Amino acid sequence: MLIDQTQIQARVEALGAQIAADYGANSDLLLVGVLKGCTMFMMDLARAIDLPLTFDFIAVASYGASTESSGVVRMIKDLETDLAGRHVLIVEDIIDSGLTLAYLRSQLLRRNPASLRICTLLNKPERRKADVPVDYLGFDIPNEFVVGYGLDYAERYRNLPYIGILKPEVYSQ
Ligand code: 5GP
Ligand code: MG
Ligand code: MG
Repeated sequence: MLIDQTQIQARVEALGAQIAADYGANSDLLLVGVLKGCTMFMMDLARAIDLPLTFDFIAVASYGASTESSGVVRMIKDLETDLAGRHVLIVEDIIDSGLTLAYLRSQLLRRNPASLRICTLLNKPERRKADVPVDYLGFDIPNEFVVGYGLDYAERYRNLPYIGILKPEVYSQ
């Protein structure tokens, strides 16, 4: 166990309040969740943002069943929403190398949003390869492979209500 349910809940509430205060009621905020890791975080975060908002989802692939980023990012599912003139907040589970978000950010900026910010639940600063501006952050974590609260290893463990460090023997064999 790295971060328990109570700690997650408290941090998500605080992030939601901060986002609501920063954007304000007339922002017509659009949350863009990066599937599938964002799901638990995004649904809790959306409930903690006391503003009228909409949401949409995008899916990219970089990891497969491995624990190391390949550096190659490809879009699997695009958004349904036109971003032109919208205030967009990307919601991610974790930033590791930063390659996924650097790619997504450049792609979405080409669609002329009014603003584009990034919110991530977790951040592994030690592993950064691409420079991405993080506007809202849940927790900095050490360089360990974590699962739970949406994060998977080979599609498993997403439903754990807390964030835990996966024992290396699970993925090293
Ligand atoms: P990046 O492109 O920043 O290296 O990696 C981004 C994606 O890799 C994340 O959105 C997440 O899906 C996956 N990832 C990175 N670190 C971890 C980790 O510790 N645990 C899990 N389950 N996924 C991770
Ligand atoms: Mg992700
Ligand atoms: Mg994954």
